[in-house]
Amino acid sequence: MSPHLRFVLGDQLTREVSSLADLDPARDIVLMVEVEVEARYVPHHQQKIAFLLAAMRHFAQALRAEGIRVDYVRLDDPANTQSFSGEIARAVERHAPASVIVTEPGEWRVRAMMADWAETLPVPVHIREDDRFFCSHAEFAALGRARKTGRMEFFYREMRRRTGLLMRGDAPEGGQWNFDPENRRALPRGLRVPPRQRFTPDALTRAVIDLVAARFGGHFGDLEPFGWAVTRADALRALDHFIEDTLPGFGDYQDAMKAGEDFLFHGLLSPYLNCGLLTAREVCARAEEAFRSGAAPINAVEGFIRQILGWREFVRGIYWAEMPAYADSNHLNAGRDLPAMYWTGETPMRCMAECIGATRRHAYAHHIQRLMVTGNFALLAGVAPAQIEEWYLAVYADAFEWVELPNVHGMVMHADGGRLGSKPYAASGAYIDRMSDYCKGCAFNPKVKRGPGACPFNYLYWNFLIENEKPLSANPRLAMPYRTLARMPAAQRAEIVADATAFLDSLP
Ligand SMILES: Cc1cc2nc3c(=O)[nH]c(=O)nc-3n(C[C@H](O)[C@H](O)[C@H](O)COP(=O)(O)OP(=O)(O)OC[C@H]3O[C@@H](n4cnc5c(N)ncnc54)[C@H](O)[C@@H]3O)c2cc1C
Ligand code: SF4
Repeated sequence: MSPHLRFVLGDQLTREVSSLADLDPARDIVLMVEVEVEARYVPHHQQKIAFLLAAMRHFAQALRAEGIRVDYVRLDDPANTQSFSGEIARAVERHAPASVIVTEPGEWRVRAMMADWAETLPVPVHIREDDRFFCSHAEFAALGRARKTGRMEFFYREMRRRTGLLMRGDAPEGGQWNFDPENRRALPRGLRVPPRQRFTPDALTRAVIDLVAARFGGHFGDLEPFGWAVTRADALRALDHFIEDTLPGFGDYQDAMKAGEDFLFHGLLSPYLNCGLLTAREVCARAEEAFRSGAAPINAVEGFIRQILGWREFVRGIYWAEMPAYADSNHLNAGRDLPAMYWTGETPMRCMAECIGATRRHAYAHHIQRLMVTGNFALLAGVAPAQIEEWYLAVYADAFEWVELPNVHGMVMHADGGRLGSKPYAASGAYIDRMSDYCKGCAFNPKVKRGPGACPFNYLYWNFLIENEKPLSANPRLAMPYRTLARMPAAQRAEIVADATAFLDSLP
């Protein structure tokens, strides 16, 4: 009997992926391929490439240990065509399968490729939905039609009702849906941040690290020390560590930032969730269990579950509902080139240097660093959306287009005109000063608004509002700053524009 060829991508590393659902080990073959095109179409961080290749190789090993036949094409195989389409065509020739079975990918570009295979391969190609998510494409579309999900908060409440997560009958646990207002504390001086569990590379991972050093050594980011889990067993250990040690403090300090503390109380779970080593369902269930057993408070658990059941599902829904046109919008007509500091980390702005430094060291930065520092700067500076999107897609171990693009294009750059978020998250230096200790020891002063020594975020913030008066001034959520701007003397406005222009023009 001809086998079915089950093609598993690098972000589908779970036995629960739909392409493996009805796998017959006596008959079928699992195909996995490492291809250069995918590592290079944006210049991915070296640790991101090592993480994914090591996780793939360990997953193949685990499948083989179950007695499953795995056809694994390595990056340095001389016959490797280095593209998905080339490798699937070669594998079909090798195995003459009855059909090819795949789970839909996390990127529009690859989805289009898969649609081509259905035309070009001499066997049927079955593309299955990725059911690792709480909300299917059809459900998201239906919720949108019912106008229940225009905004994330309403979508999230509906998902709480549907899944029963953190519900007490029909009511939200704790008496309210959202504990966000309790989750904005700055880090008190002297608070102990728990040390984070990292994982020592085994021989298989070491071989991958050497391969990445040899082939992608010129890419952004430090390759070592490498501390990510690359097996399901270690990812589960990372989940235990989060639930026991940092989830209790996650809520209070969700928005805090501190120099030299790259992880704080965050989960560090997104790379595992996104590549398949952990599932969203088990992670949310564990967090809920921690609340019910009294191990973590409601503001921490609700805040965490909202990120996954709410934001993660919502951005995915938007991505698949709006692509490919979504990526082309540019509501604020932003067009500046990405400043070199994003790649070099060299800047006297301490907040930017800290966040880019963390990114370089770990292929990770936490949400507020991405949103309110590197993202905020790109928004205020008017960086071309495509350029900042490429940066975010390249530098984070958790970056796959379905989740990266809506976060950057929509949440950060407001390039979608407000489809994702009702207003741009623009902020001046006062916000960063309040939520971090970055400003102490910075070359600039967050309390100075204009002129030499002023924090660039201050004049860039007002300059952004001035430049975008037409598309943004009618936004009710920006009514207050626009009222302030309306009262501002013309000379003061002119100084802001002059400071911002001089600063931006001076950036390499
Ligand atoms: C500009 C920008 C780019 C981003 N790019 C990515 C990306 O490429 N991949 C990615 O997974 N997340 C992205 N995020 C969302 C978020 O920053 C990361 O998921 C989070 O920092 C991952 O670290 P963590 O696991 O420690 O998260 P925690 O702070 O512990 O949060 C828990 C989980 O919630 C989920 N989550 C939180 N916020 C979001 C969000 N806005 N969208 C989707 N999921 C969310 C993640 O799965 C995360 O693991 C981006 C956010 C911004 C502002
Ligand atoms: S003063 Fe401004 S540039 Fe410096 S760290 Fe603070 S917010 Fe960043």
